[in-house]
Amino acid sequence: MLSFEDARTSLIAAAQPLQRGECVDTLHAAGRVLAEEVLASLNVPPADNSAMDGYAVRAADVAANIALPISQRIPAGSVPQPLLPGTAARIFTGAQIPPGADAVVMQERCVLDGENVRVEVAPQAGDNVRRMGEDIRDGSEVLKAGAVLRSQELGLLASLGVAQVTVVARLRVAVFFTGDELRMPGESLAQGQIYNSNRFVLYGLLGEMGCDIVDLGIVRDDLQATREALRQAARDADLILTCGGVSVGEEDHVKAAVEAEGALQSWRVAIKPGKPLAFGRVGETPFIGLPGNPVSSFVTFQMLVKPYLRRMQGSAASMPSALPMRADFAWKKSVPVREFLRVRRNAEGGLDLFPNQGSGVLTSCTWADGLVENAPETLINAGDVVRYLPFASL
Ligand code: AMP
Ligand code: MG
Repeated sequence: MLSFEDARTSLIAAAQPLQRGECVDTLHAAGRVLAEEVLASLNVPPADNSAMDGYAVRAADVAANIALPISQRIPAGSVPQPLLPGTAARIFTGAQIPPGADAVVMQERCVLDGENVRVEVAPQAGDNVRRMGEDIRDGSEVLKAGAVLRSQELGLLASLGVAQVTVVARLRVAVFFTGDELRMPGESLAQGQIYNSNRFVLYGLLGEMGCDIVDLGIVRDDLQATREALRQAARDADLILTCGGVSVGEEDHVKAAVEAEGALQSWRVAIKPGKPLAFGRVGETPFIGLPGNPVSSFVTFQMLVKPYLRRMQGSAASMPSALPMRADFAWKKSVPVREFLRVRRNAEGGLDLFPNQGSGVLTSCTWADGLVENAPETLINAGDVVRYLPFASL
């Protein structure tokens, strides 16, 4: 059995970043990964401008309480004239500083006196001036290849006038679900059948990561059917992800099917919930087989598949580090594998444990807001500091 750390390390090392790029509108690039660096082709802001509504002056001309004639009016978006010596220019936030001026006095510090303005306190050069290029310098590297584009990165690109960006193409992930007991919501359940809930969990998780899903549906517990599904998946996708059928019962055919169609690198990982978990390749297409139990497939996706997919997507992002938090529960079952317990922050600043940690109990995942990562053979006493991974950080 492979340790969790070794499994994660070898998975990440095996992930081949996708080489396909595509050009997309910046407006619709949220969540995408930049395929190439972006250099600034202008200064932001493009010129010195006012941070306040007020009066632009040359600081050296101004003493407290002297009256300055108002020589021009500069709204945002207009082109100023050079400042006449010994005068002030009425100016508004975002408007360009006129040549010859070097400070803005905010209007709350000024008294209007007919055609003149008096400032109460003499300004310093640079006061309330936003400098050309203080946000971004022309020619500088703004974002690196591998950056994940969040809303703030999109705004930064837009401030540079970048209308389209080259991002890593969407990963095509082929999925199928094994199990003769599985039915789809909308169908009726006969005795012994259950709904294919994992499909909905995986759709959500893959969708959040910006993957395109090639859905091969439910595959019968049958070696030939499984091999056929794997072959089709390998043709159509960058990665094959399956769910269920990776154990060693007579009805579990995924392991044998992968061995027949490609190679299996490992099929048991010391993680709970989780093992069995298989990875290998079908033809040249990488393959990961998740366990069928709903909590197991959810947790193994979060902890092992996500970092792997991020690498394939060309993202530089690594795994988040766990937060130290106080356990307000005890965990007295020592197991030789790394456990991921479903927990939730409480009002006292500690963590509560969902009472049923069964690998089929999906309610534990809806109740929880994160996982506690518990090292092999480790007991937890109430009050211990544990490693907490909020779902939101995964
Ligand atoms: P398996 O890994 O195929 O042995 O399945 C382990 C458990 O997970 C069994 O109780 C299955 O019925 C259940 N299971 C397998 N696949 C799914 C699925 N797609 N949705 C919900 N439960 C599943
Ligand atoms: Mg099964």
